[in-house]
Amino acid sequence: MQYHAFVIKYAEIGIKGKNRYIFEEALVRQMRRVLERCEGKFVITRVAGRIYIEASDFDFDETIANLQTVFGITGICPAVTIERDENAKLPDYQHLSEAVIKFIEGVYPDRHKTFKVKCRRVDKTYPMDSMEIDRSLGGDILEHFPEMKVDVHDPEIWLNVEIREKINIFSEIIPGPGGMPLGTSGKAMLLLSGGIDSPVAGYMIAKRGVEIEAVYFNAPPYTSERARQKVVDLAGIIAKYTGKVRLHVINFTEIQLYIYDHCPHDELTIIMRRYMMKIADRIAASQNCLGLITGESIGQVASQTMQSLLCTNEVVEDMPVYRPLIAFDKQDIVDISLKIGAYDTSILPYEDCCTIFVAKHPVTKPRADIIRKHELDLADKIDELVQTALDTDEVVEIRK
Ligand code: ATP
Ligand code: MG
Repeated sequence: MQYHAFVIKYAEIGIKGKNRYIFEEALVRQMRRVLERCEGKFVITRVAGRIYIEASDFDFDETIANLQTVFGITGICPAVTIERDENAKLPDYQHLSEAVIKFIEGVYPDRHKTFKVKCRRVDKTYPMDSMEIDRSLGGDILEHFPEMKVDVHDPEIWLNVEIREKINIFSEIIPGPGGMPLGTSGKAMLLLSGGIDSPVAGYMIAKRGVEIEAVYFNAPPYTSERARQKVVDLAGIIAKYTGKVRLHVINFTEIQLYIYDHCPHDELTIIMRRYMMKIADRIAASQNCLGLITGESIGQVASQTMQSLLCTNEVVEDMPVYRPLIAFDKQDIVDISLKIGAYDTSILPYEDCCTIFVAKHPVTKPRADIIRKHELDLADKIDELVQTALDTDEVVEIRK
């Protein structure tokens, strides 16, 4: 079928007035951004609560795949557009009817289906009203395709006809990602490791319109260049949805070694995680972020028991920590990871800074007062090491 246009559906209809305008503007901006990387010519128009894309010389699959990365879109409807017959000065019903028949022929090779015609007459100068059009087109379809049947309650094919300056015919709705368009909320700092969880957590918050900046704690030479590259690649997968991600690579080795030398080894993970959060908090505040994001989920590992979470949470002073996966089971997280195309990268078997120094039996119910006491043994040098880590922050700009 040769489509010429897409009708874009979006939800969040609770957004009214000025906010609705901002939402739609942001959505159009994001659509423009992804269409720039597609072959073809596209013209986006916004009219009366709808967004249309007129398209020519385009690749259908590529266009759809890219539109499916735009948060805020709930549905993409490929449409056929027909011009109104200007010369005759008569809106040409015959023309419309033929186009509808051709549309059905093109889109549905098997026509043993039920259908319903739903006309929206936006241009009230069209001489038939929408009910008349529904009925006439329904009749014409039945005449042409006796194998089709009308079902007004639960049809297999909803044939939409929108009469405006031009006429759009569409029936299929390809799902979009939903959410809110990027740039309608603030910015947050994602603690991005090479695992399965944190990229999913970043995706979920980004889906609410939040811009993502990321921080990765690297531990060379204990972790390899390949492990770092994996995190850059994961940031790239998030950037596919958000356009760009600034990734801060923090050299964490000296801090880890220092903790290793001065603290009980069963508390290593929790103390390390407290320093990660502290540093992330400082970078985030300096970059005007409004929150931190982690991929933590209650009970998943020793460092994610309620006691551990309480213990790591208390070091963050400047902003809330968002943990979108907190109540998710692993399989649900894996499902999203697969859906967003991160899974294959996430499972590459490279070492992570947390696993290198991990104790055989880490504390699972740390007490913050005891941890704080043990951290006093770091007092000599830890501030200086944290400062050096911040000063040597390497920023990788990833754009898609
Ligand atoms: P993930 O799959 O996201 O690595 P995980 O199940 O391995 O998570 P942990 O290693 O306990 O869990 O880490 C919990 C969270 O802490 C991660 O989701 C991530 O947000 C953050 N984190 C862990 N390691 C790092 C790191 N090296 N750099 C940045 N953030 C990290
Ligand atoms: Mg991890």
